[in-house]
Amino acid sequence: MRANKYAGMCATCGDDVAVEAGQLVGLPGRWMTLCGRCTPQPPPRGEHDGWHRAPLASLDFETTGIDPHHDRVLSYALLGDDGHDVNGLINPGIPIPPQSAAVHGLTAEALVDAPIPEVGIALVIDWVQSVIDRGAGLVVFNAAYDLTMLRAEATRWGLRQPDWQRLLVVDPYVIDWGIERGALGPRRLTDVAAYYEVTLDNAHDAAADAWAARNVAVEIGARHPEVGMSSLAILMHSQRGWYADRAEDWNSYARTAGRSLDDPSGWPLASGLEPPAAATA
Ligand SMILES: [Zn+2]
Repeated sequence: MRANKYAGMCATCGDDVAVEAGQLVGLPGRWMTLCGRCTPQPPPRGEHDGWHRAPLASLDFETTGIDPHHDRVLSYALLGDDGHDVNGLINPGIPIPPQSAAVHGLTAEALVDAPIPEVGIALVIDWVQSVIDRGAGLVVFNAAYDLTMLRAEATRWGLRQPDWQRLLVVDPYVIDWGIERGALGPRRLTDVAAYYEVTLDNAHDAAADAWAARNVAVEIGARHPEVGMSSLAILMHSQRGWYADRAEDWNSYARTAGRSLDDPSGWPLASGLEPPAAATA
């Protein structure tokens, strides 16, 4: 959910809602405004055991843009399930679009002394492999983006790939959609964190985002027993299904609106090594 940018009427109780005083919910093309009193709340925490009580790793990147096949990693935060965290910068060797720098504050000048990608990406890949080898869950908010980019970077620089088949991903973006079926609208990390009352003070800093994503994942597991009590292997299967459902939902809207289509099988990695040839209808 996000704050309503325009004044409106609460879809539940009919009260007037001033700008930013309520929430915008719903599906693309079918938005609704809700007042503060009618805004949905997450269920309370349960006492059940599950993956949310086990140590989880978490990964986040800041990048040059939004295309996982062609954009580059500029900074990474790797929060270890073993309690050991690694943060780092990478000098991509290419210009950084000003609109990206405006989001995360990473400029070419700031990265001039950072390691080259062959070094920085190799470190990230070794770390991901160590998480896989320990059998820990890896939290990645919108994994289809970060992990697809990591795979593309590894290919670009001739590095080995992590053992992707064995990676256990916990993606709060996809799980949140699966629980709510999109009814609360497209929810970015800031939206989901606010809903679950997870602090996110410095959004678009990789470490802050990785911390918040992991805390959101833990809240989801604790508040939704059917999710928290799944094994991570079964949760992988569920997330693939939810991602596919979300993509089909989006695509049915996108076809009518002339927007580009999502790949239903693109989680946790885009299918194939190249972007889909017919990404735009
Ligand atoms: Zn209301």
